[in-house]
Amino acid sequence: MTTMLRRSLSSKAARKVAVLPGDGIGPEVMKEALKVLKRTAELFPKCAMTFEHGNIGGAGFDAHGEHFPAVTKALCERSDAILFGSVGGPVQEQHMPKWKDCEKNSLLGLRKAFDLAVNVRPAKVYPTLAHCSPLRSELLKDGVDMVIIRELLGGIYFGEHTTEGDSAKDVCTYTVAQIRRPLEFAFQAAKGRKGKLTVVDKANVLDTSRLWRKVATEMAKDHPEVTMDFMYVDNAAMQLIKAPASFDVICTENMFGDILSDAASVLPGSLGLMPSASLGSKLYLYEPSGGSAPDIAGKGVANPAAQILCGAMMLRYSFGEEAAAAAIEAAVDQAILSGVLTGDIAPPGTKSVSTSVFGDAVVAAMKA
Ligand code: NAD
Repeated sequence: MTTMLRRSLSSKAARKVAVLPGDGIGPEVMKEALKVLKRTAELFPKCAMTFEHGNIGGAGFDAHGEHFPAVTKALCERSDAILFGSVGGPVQEQHMPKWKDCEKNSLLGLRKAFDLAVNVRPAKVYPTLAHCSPLRSELLKDGVDMVIIRELLGGIYFGEHTTEGDSAKDVCTYTVAQIRRPLEFAFQAAKGRKGKLTVVDKANVLDTSRLWRKVATEMAKDHPEVTMDFMYVDNAAMQLIKAPASFDVICTENMFGDILSDAASVLPGSLGLMPSASLGSKLYLYEPSGGSAPDIAGKGVANPAAQILCGAMMLRYSFGEEAAAAAIEAAVDQAILSGVLTGDIAPPGTKSVSTSVFGDAVVAAMKA
């Protein structure tokens, strides 16, 4: 039984959500996400949720003297999912104890505590927001809507790094178990989407990539409804720009995923549109792809779409509530389509709305 399915079966009662708004725009966008989730629970009574708040990042430091306080860890441990905002302070204040290593301590703390080994990042270009994308509109006309699934705790970043004299070495290692975990999720995700999975590697050169191919080929036999293909990472980098609409689900190892997911993140045109998930063995964490945006924090202008869409991902992947997740995504689509746009996505010279007006528009567009 898959982790996703296991999770949805194991938590039929009100699901407990640990809410960690963090710093900067985190609390502002989280407020809108919770508004939308509470409306969702009214429309979909099966989606009853309880929300318990905890401090993390600079807010954790202020409240408890550390970025990832023990009470916050305990809150996450008794929860079914973590809804995370963002952490970190302004660049000019990074030397202050409150902000020094804030992002590292908070996120690595969570990653370690909950074995968050797989990262999931959707990248969707909203047709009415083609003006935000750096790509020409003809490259977007077939609809760009992909999910990149990246292994997070293996590969070259975690291998031995040595330098001797004028030579240096970085070791890349993968085990079958490490490879199976992201792939298992990728097959499940593809089934709920267009049914296409592209496994990205460099199997013409690397043994680890050849192992990925072997494992993926074996696993594909259990998922006949998914069409799987392989693509070399250099070609994938080109195709992301030349033919982004050709992708559905991409699954890849740590370093390739790091690079490709950052490349894909510019396609929608604003970080404010990009949710993400990190999958652990016991629970999953959902967070916007962007940071705490100190430049706009407190002004009520941040785009809450990414945080709201994190709520949809949580309903889909942690709780198995596909209809409710799709309803949130449709309501975000509807708000954007009707021209309710925050400053980061409004065409130049047009009027933009505040964070809370965008959230209200999504709530108003929600349908059971
Ligand atoms: P950032 O993502 O916070 O901001 C980059 C740019 O994107 C800014 O101009 C910002 O205004 C804009 N932006 C981001 N989210 C937006 C939204 N929802 N709506 C509208 N505009 C948005 O990156 P940064 O400025 O490099 O980092 C700021 C702080 O965030 C740093 O302290 C950094 O360490 C931290 N950070 C945290 C995370 C995280 O919590 N996962 C991730 C990245 C950066």
